[in-house]
Amino acid sequence: MYPDLKLYIDGRWRKTARDLPVVNPATEEEIGRLPHADLQDLEDAVDAAKKGFEIWGRTAPRERSNIIMRAATIMRERQEAIARSITAEHGKPLRQARLEVIRGAEFFEWDAGEAMRTYGRVIPAPQGHSFTVHHQPIGVVAAFSPWNFPMSQPARKIAGALASGCSIILKAAEETPAGAIHIVRAFEDAGLPPGVLNLVFGTPSEISDFLIPQDAVRLVAFTGSTNVGRHLTTLASEHMTPVLMELGGHAPVIVCEDADVEKAAINGAERKMRNAGQVCTSPTRFFVHDGIYESYVEKFVERAAATKVGNGMDDGVEMGPLANDRRIPALSELVEDACTKGAELRTGGTRLGNKGYFFQCTVLANVPESARIMQEEPFGPVAIINSVGSLDEAIEKANSVPYGLAGYAFTNRADYIDRLIDRVEVGNLSINTLPLVA
Ligand code: NAD
Repeated sequence: MYPDLKLYIDGRWRKTARDLPVVNPATEEEIGRLPHADLQDLEDAVDAAKKGFEIWGRTAPRERSNIIMRAATIMRERQEAIARSITAEHGKPLRQARLEVIRGAEFFEWDAGEAMRTYGRVIPAPQGHSFTVHHQPIGVVAAFSPWNFPMSQPARKIAGALASGCSIILKAAEETPAGAIHIVRAFEDAGLPPGVLNLVFGTPSEISDFLIPQDAVRLVAFTGSTNVGRHLTTLASEHMTPVLMELGGHAPVIVCEDADVEKAAINGAERKMRNAGQVCTSPTRFFVHDGIYESYVEKFVERAAATKVGNGMDDGVEMGPLANDRRIPALSELVEDACTKGAELRTGGTRLGNKGYFFQCTVLANVPESARIMQEEPFGPVAIINSVGSLDEAIEKANSVPYGLAGYAFTNRADYIDRLIDRVEVGNLSINTLPLVA
């Protein structure tokens, strides 16, 4: 079931002298050995991507689109095998892994459509002239994808690059390599020319230190933590290479006094626990009007505590383990710090059992502003629920972190919705729903 793990360079699969184990986070068992790239592998990947770009950048958009669509269809056909690999390496419930495969395929299908719509513009210029704007592929992309969505995160990077005519060297996450390997296999079977899509694994800093300064690399794309994103941006700026960064989040959820308390609480708890909270848009800071606060917390805690936690392969499991062991101390420290500073631990708070990286669904209430977790993203199944006296206070608190990725609000008042849209500083604002995205 779990694929043979290899690098993919210039249209060929390759093993290397050094490999490291990939571990199932639910059982802590080794499920594969992942080859790590050395300097020669990386040099070969750059040469291959340069060659791949020469071919792909000149391939007609319709042909590019056809190959991407074929690959997406193959991914859909292999949904079950890919989903099982994802659950084995990441831990998420199989049902969520299946959805992730479809979502990954949808990214390719969307971008395959966009590939044919890279319209230019004509701009009036002085003296009867006009300027024409043509969009052209930027060149070789060096991309780094994280472990929280083993298939859909690499899909986002690869789909955009390939649809616009770029070649790509992807370093996918070493903890969860199978999702990216399945994508590459699908493209191989769909007829993608060699060199266009290259996949490497290894020591992340060695790979980024090598790839980013390369003349051939014209764009750096990264999804992961803000600290690593900052480091890669600094490195790229030394070479004047543009970057695309998708970093952390610390999403607020505002629950107004007129909201349907039960619906908002249950939806909030279920969405918080999805992917064990390891989502950049995960709802984390809940600001609930004080008139409904206690009943909201009670219903939220009831639903969170009832979450069935276990091996994602087992039927009925709603939340799997954390994807890697370093997240256990990271979460424990944040919870402990909050409790020491006066937060109330309403449920959870610790590791579950001693086999597998399971963490309890955790709810902290009345968390003081001084707690680290009010500013630091937990990236795990931990919810903070605080009370507020008004919508203005909620918006002020929602905006009080350096993150602005996603936000959520529950209200039926049109004037409140207008105010929320105007003033909550986030890229995505969802009203009356916490969408259960894969
Ligand atoms: P981390 O900062 O150690 O690593 C984050 C990711 O960056 C990993 O995939 C890692 O392989 C990669 N990475 C680390 N150093 C790198 C380097 N020098 N060059 C290239 N890649 C490098 O954090 P972590 O413990 O793996 O994850 C926890 C944090 O990561 C969370 O707090 C969260 O903010 C962030 N994260 C965000 C997303 C997202 O979707 N935005 C996804 C995963 C992780």
